[in-house]
Amino acid sequence: MQSEGVEVLDGDALVLIDPQVDFCPGGALAVAEGDEIMAPIARLADRFRHVVVTQDWHPAGHSSFASSHPGKAPFDAVALPYGEQVLWPDHCIQGSAGAQFHPAVAPAVARAQLIVRKGYNPAVDSYSAFFENDHATPTGLAGYLRDKGVRRCVFVGLAYDFCVGWSALDARRESFGAVVLKSLTRAIAAPHASGTTVTLVEERFHAAGVIVAE
Ligand SMILES: [Zn+2]
Repeated sequence: MQSEGVEVLDGDALVLIDPQVDFCPGGALAVAEGDEIMAPIARLADRFRHVVVTQDWHPAGHSSFASSHPGKAPFDAVALPYGEQVLWPDHCIQGSAGAQFHPAVAPAVARAQLIVRKGYNPAVDSYSAFFENDHATPTGLAGYLRDKGVRRCVFVGLAYDFCVGWSALDARRESFGAVVLKSLTRAIAAPHASGTTVTLVEERFHAAGVIVAE
C-alpha cells in the first residue's frame, strides 16, 4: 500500500512522536506549522496495523527546563552528568493542557496500542522513544516492538531534528529499519556548528541508515 512515499508492510509500526499542544503554534515550545501535520497523520495511522505514540511528560522543575538553571535561557546548552543538554522553556508538564495530544490527531491516538511517556525522570531528559538522553536507560519500546514482530518503524511527529530524529537513530541502534516521513514532521532548526540541527540530524541519518521519505 502506497502511503506518503512509503509502502506500508505488515511488519511496520507507525511511531508518532510527541503530537502535543505545547509543540504546536500557541504552545510553550511551539514548532512552526506543527499543527498542520496532525490531521494528515490521523489519516495515515489508519493504514498501519501497529501504532505507537509518545508523550513528553515532565514533572514541574524538570532538569531540561531553563527555569531550573539560574542565569540560563531557553536554547542555552548546559553540561549535565549524562552529557550536553539543550535547555527548553517549561513545557509538557504532567497533567497540564499543553501536555495533551493535539485534538486533530485524536483518531491516531485512539488507534494506538501503546503510549510511551518520556521525560518523567526529573534528572534526565528523554528525546528518543527508545532511550533516555543518557543513551542507556531504555523505555521498553524496543522489547515491545520485537514482541509484536515489528521489523521497521515509520516516524512522524515533532520535532524532526530532536525527538523524531533521536528516535529514528535509536531504532537503527536497536536493529529496526527506520523511515522518517519528512512531510509529516516539522523542525526546530536551531543554529548549530554544522549549520542547523536539521543538517546535523540528517548527517547522522545518513551514517546510520535512516531513510528520509516524503
Ligand atoms: Zn521535553
